[in-house]
Amino acid sequence: MSKYFSAKYAALTPYVPGEQPKDAQYVKLNTNESPFAPPQSVIDAARLEAGKLHLYSDPESAALTKKAAEVWGVKKSQILMTNGSDEALNFAFMAFCDENHPIAFPDITYGFYPVFAALNGIPYETIPLRADFSVGYEDYLAIGKNIVIANPNAPTGMALSLVQIEEIVKSNPSNVVIIDEAYVDFGGESCVPLIEKYNNLLVTQTFSKSRSLAGARLGVAIGNEKLIADLNTVKYSTNPYNVNRMTAAAGLAILGETEWFENNRKAICENREYTTAALKELGFTVLDSKTNFLFAKSDKVKGKALYEGLKAKGVLIRHFNTARIADYVRITIGTKEQMDVFLAKTKEIIEEAAK
Ligand SMILES: *Cc1c(COP(=O)(O)O)cnc(C)c1O
Repeated sequence: MSKYFSAKYAALTPYVPGEQPKDAQYVKLNTNESPFAPPQSVIDAARLEAGKLHLYSDPESAALTKKAAEVWGVKKSQILMTNGSDEALNFAFMAFCDENHPIAFPDITYGFYPVFAALNGIPYETIPLRADFSVGYEDYLAIGKNIVIANPNAPTGMALSLVQIEEIVKSNPSNVVIIDEAYVDFGGESCVPLIEKYNNLLVTQTFSKSRSLAGARLGVAIGNEKLIADLNTVKYSTNPYNVNRMTAAAGLAILGETEWFENNRKAICENREYTTAALKELGFTVLDSKTNFLFAKSDKVKGKALYEGLKAKGVLIRHFNTARIADYVRITIGTKEQMDVFLAKTKEIIEEAAK
């Protein structure tokens, strides 16, 4: 830390992204990306836009916003395109939380929430997941705080029902409830239809997982038009051109690839069920996942040992060295071929451990 670093950030512990190794070719199942490269239409659209990179992007992302509003079935005034959904979440923390408006979220969830809170000087409360790792939705009823919940949750993969989400939103009318639907396309129930009924609900989604654009950085916030106007105030006070030209073009093109999208999310769900069954056969406990990853633990190898063993064998998964979940690993669902490599190497490690 330099002596110039602001005291307000001195205690900040930044978010740690999953490894993006450059040294070797890994079967990469550690950051919940899609294993499927985007279709040709997306590559062509981005390439065409590259010729105009000397000009600023459209601060309103008008064409993309119009298409996204159609896809999500909302008005243009109810949606904001962002630089990844991480930006949407940070804008929401900035817009709706402060010293007098703290935020609550589960103890085991997306690691960025406490970072956004600390960055913006926002007090936060963590509410423990139940023993079975589900979000105890009753714990969020009428708590008089802003709330952020990933639904389905990460890294557990488990989901709350739409009815449970509605109870939380309905019982906290004086606070904003942010529902982070990064993984909703893999089997969760989206609460976007509730935004017409509740002016305190903000939903975020991302193009990083089910739409194969993690490297483009594109996310979306959906909610009552007044909430979206507030997010725009923050956006125009930080980075008006938050979505770059190539990303806007890629995003517009991918939203037109309906069949491609349906096929890919179906493939991920099938590979997930396949991998779940195989892991259970190897003696793993696997949580019920509605996402593109599994959260699992073996009774024979500890989480860290499995992570390290797989890395040595060329397969990257994620291990969180955190209380309550240190025995678990998080495995992104890739192609069937990738999952077969992962399963074969896992089997080897378990057999070696038994010797
Ligand atoms: C991946 C992820 C995000 C953010 O994704 P972006 O790439 O910034 O769109 C947000 N929330 C959760 C729970 C995630 O797993």
